Amino acid sequence: MEFSSSLLENAVSEFAKLPGIGKKTALRLVLHLLKQDPGNVETFGDAVLKMRREIKFCERCYNVADHSTCTICANPMRKQDIICVVENIRDVIAIESTQQFSGVYHVLGGIISPLDGIGPDQLTIEPLLQRIPREKTEELIFALNPNIQGDTTIYYIQKKLQGNPVKITTIARGIAFGGELEYADEMTLARSITNRLPVEKYVQH
Ligand SMILES: [Zn+2]
Repeated sequence: MEFSSSLLENAVSEFAKLPGIGKKTALRLVLHLLKQDPGNVETFGDAVLKMRREIKFCERCYNVADHSTCTICANPMRKQDIICVVENIRDVIAIESTQQFSGVYHVLGGIISPLDGIGPDQLTIEPLLQRIPREKTEELIFALNPNIQGDTTIYYIQKKLQGNPVKITTIARGIAFGGELEYADEMTLARSITNRLPVEKYVQH
């Protein structure tokens, strides 16, 4: 692509760094911004910058937050003793949009994957293990992607919780093996949260 302006070229190459955005789409987006009022573009730029600079992670569940505690943890209407364990923030958003879950979350920040060099220490597993006795958690629901890494993570955490009276369940397999939670449609995901199973029936020991 040939540009007569390096300013335009820079903007296009920045957009093209985003996932799923090729050079052509990047150019289309930049040309769209070029047609806008500079004030609108400033609002756009500020929103991105402010989000990146000021966003926090909830001290309790590691979800994204504007303050030290996220709005889900701070909501007295949520069942604070039911924790749904998810891999990442996208999963929280996917489950929240089903409106079928009224407990709280714990965001692991990934799953155990020895091949990728991700062990329990790189995740928020230790804070979770401390959280359960402290908060006298009633139920722990695993909503991890149904694949080997997900199963390994469940197995690891379950082992660490032996002797703790917390009930451990996992979302039902409405999702194909290896399917991604975030791509499951809302109905399937909602059903799999409602029809959750005790974890012993799920993980093969
Ligand atoms: Zn939180």
